Amino acid sequence: MTQRYKYVLEEKDLPTQWYNIVADMKEPPPPYRHPATLDFMKPEDLIPVFPEALIAQEASTERYIEIPEEVQDVLKMWRPAPLYRAHRWEKALDTPAKIYYKWEGVSPAGSHKPNTAVAQCYYGKQEGLRGFATETGAGQWGSALAFATRLFDMECKVFMVTISYHQKPYRRIAMETWGANVVPSPSTETNAGRQLLEQDPDTTGSLGMAISEAIEYGVTHEGYKYSLGSVVNFVLLHQTVIGLEARQQMEMAGDYPDILIGCAGGGSNAAGLIYPFMKDKLDGTKPDLRAIFVESTACPSMTRGIYAYDWGDTAKTGPVAKMHTVGHGFVPAPVHAGGLRYHGMAPTICALLDQGYAEARAYHQNVCFDAALTFARSEGFIVAPETAHAVRAAYDEAMACKETGESKVILFNASGHGDFDLAAYDAYLRRDLPDYEMEEETIQIALQDLPKVPA
Ligand SMILES: *Cc1c(COP(=O)(O)O)cnc(C)c1O
Repeated sequence: MTQRYKYVLEEKDLPTQWYNIVADMKEPPPPYRHPATLDFMKPEDLIPVFPEALIAQEASTERYIEIPEEVQDVLKMWRPAPLYRAHRWEKALDTPAKIYYKWEGVSPAGSHKPNTAVAQCYYGKQEGLRGFATETGAGQWGSALAFATRLFDMECKVFMVTISYHQKPYRRIAMETWGANVVPSPSTETNAGRQLLEQDPDTTGSLGMAISEAIEYGVTHEGYKYSLGSVVNFVLLHQTVIGLEARQQMEMAGDYPDILIGCAGGGSNAAGLIYPFMKDKLDGTKPDLRAIFVESTACPSMTRGIYAYDWGDTAKTGPVAKMHTVGHGFVPAPVHAGGLRYHGMAPTICALLDQGYAEARAYHQNVCFDAALTFARSEGFIVAPETAHAVRAAYDEAMACKETGESKVILFNASGHGDFDLAAYDAYLRRDLPDYEMEEETIQIALQDLPKVPA
């Protein structure tokens, strides 16, 4: 029997519309609240922060939204992305499961993140913006925006979490190669940064802090606005090209997934793959479809945080969203680690979890690398440490099939390559990679500082 290893679409098959899950949710997440007054936010409150076209998408309840042709043209540099059947890995695991993965490592920046960076730059340019300010943790989002701003002839200012700035120089160099201006955060360039440094001069930084700085920079610099790489509706919307392509590819393969898996920092790559399939669960066509969002034990917002309103950033300047959170003051442990270190989670994912449509689980990083190693040794791809969380969940589901003898169809999103993360693989191979679990006390203290929203 001839086996097929990959399912490749042509440029003409690139989706021309994004899928907006809000249209099909019985109970969409509640509206954002204003960071200072905690009253419900009006869309126009966001005008200083985001391009207006994106604010409209954030609030949209339309099921499908056109992808502008100029955006499609850029996406075609690497899309449609391939979908693979992991025959060799299945054999190595000796599992009856059928494992598929969507490979997002083919973009110039090496992950799914350019899918939204390109769209955001298009709308920013349309509005006449000169540049975007943003935050980045491990540097993947900053790289994606640096690449995309360059294509649209825009400027890019990146606040990079201090510890990553020093631990992970290669992403910074990539951003600078594309022409971005990168500073460690907290920095002395913003009021928020100066205040945070005053409170703790030795702080190693966090995404929450870097977001505060980037928002401030974006709203106070002429011709600039702020760009965000995950969490909010419009970012997840832009990422649905992943799942829309995967639907076509699974059809080519003659299979439909029983289990969908994505790693989740803010939730954008997982939602991007899962939402176009989740549509079938929401409308009752596929009631048994399982969707698994995988996070890190070091930042367990979905599995150990609470579902409540919280600020999206440390300085409390961004919108307040109802989400699973470990608190906006969260500071990741200063160990060499993969990403997935945002204190909150995309509000639509949290609503789906809360309503029982999806599952969440958390893993320590060493077991993720264990699985990523077996994956690399069969499939060849060395995945990003974040992606390794999805690989681990796929591994566990495949092993569960081995126990029961079931031949379930598993599809996971391989969100990015690990070519810039080899230091983490090195630490893992030398058995020098720490596992870190957030302490219960730390979570409890953080949760005392949540906003007291009016009923
Ligand atoms: C940024 C990133 C993630 C986590 O972000 P999400 O918004 O949750 O997708 C996962 N994988 C890779 C490769 C990333 O770069």
